[in-house]
Amino acid sequence: MPTVHAYAANQASGRLDPFEYDLPDALQHDEVEIDIRYCGICHSDLSVLDDEWGVSQYPLVPGHEVVGTVAAVGEHVTHVQVGQWVGVGWFSRSCLICDQCMGGNHNLCPSAEGIMMGRPGGFADKVRAQSHWVTPLPEGIGRADAGPLFCGGITVFNPIIQNNIRPTHRVGVIGIGGLGHMALQFLSAWGCEVTAFSTTPDKEAEARAFGAHHFVSTRDEAVLEKLAGSFDMILDTVNVDLPWDLYIQALSPKGKLHLVGAAPQVTATVFPMLASQRSVGASPLGSPATIREMLRFAARHGIAPRTEHFPLAQVNEAMEHLKAGKPRYRIVLDVA
Ligand SMILES: [Zn+2]
Ligand SMILES: [Zn+2]
Repeated sequence: MPTVHAYAANQASGRLDPFEYDLPDALQHDEVEIDIRYCGICHSDLSVLDDEWGVSQYPLVPGHEVVGTVAAVGEHVTHVQVGQWVGVGWFSRSCLICDQCMGGNHNLCPSAEGIMMGRPGGFADKVRAQSHWVTPLPEGIGRADAGPLFCGGITVFNPIIQNNIRPTHRVGVIGIGGLGHMALQFLSAWGCEVTAFSTTPDKEAEARAFGAHHFVSTRDEAVLEKLAGSFDMILDTVNVDLPWDLYIQALSPKGKLHLVGAAPQVTATVFPMLASQRSVGASPLGSPATIREMLRFAARHGIAPRTEHFPLAQVNEAMEHLKAGKPRYRIVLDVA
């Protein structure tokens, strides 16, 4: 019976302490067992640890940006071999047979399972997941920093695909943090004219280094009024209330305000949307096929999350660092 050495919290917002559990001897026929080498930390790890969504179960092992090597495969698994470098993100399983899975939108499967939801996640030395969600790392992807691509990266890459963004498009990114810094890299490599929106003027130089052509300091909302009609897509990566009408007016006709940050609500005036066929939407992560597409694109263009590393044994310090809003820009735990 493989024993997993993990870090778990016994209560909401609790300290993460060493925690061991046993996996069943046999893998399910479609499962892959991963020896975890790195696990990114995402803001959702903190939200689930703190039971912000009211669905957490304890003891709770967070972690959903896993990178490691294949330790074992179930009998029906053919696309990865033992020893191969792979990654797995938020989802650990989907049904494969519902309309969404059959249509290639596995991330929208109503019965999709989260790798750290109701089961232990990736702050550990081992994890198992359905093979469809286990993606080989292509040549050119740095292993130590690949973890954040499997949650934060795919979260900001998927809207490019979903909204048919083209190189001729003008796009904006709200928030230059863990998600936003990857969005800037993807969108500028995609060929778009990219504007970064931030309340922190001292992020301008870094935003430009990540690929932004323009930087707008949004401390003064009046600057948004001057940008009316400018953007084919604005990607919102922050989880706070915003001057929604101003951002919607900054869209060009048919433009889309696309949310990947969990703002509590959107309140907006309908007429400016109606008159110019603008829309507001949102999306969760991305399908396995889109994850592969993202990894190939990132490898070709040298796109990588910028990370700070902590050993797994210092996971509590790492979580405090995240809570304090200090990471520039993602944290990765070195597991082994
Ligand atoms: Zn995440
Ligand atoms: Zn399904």
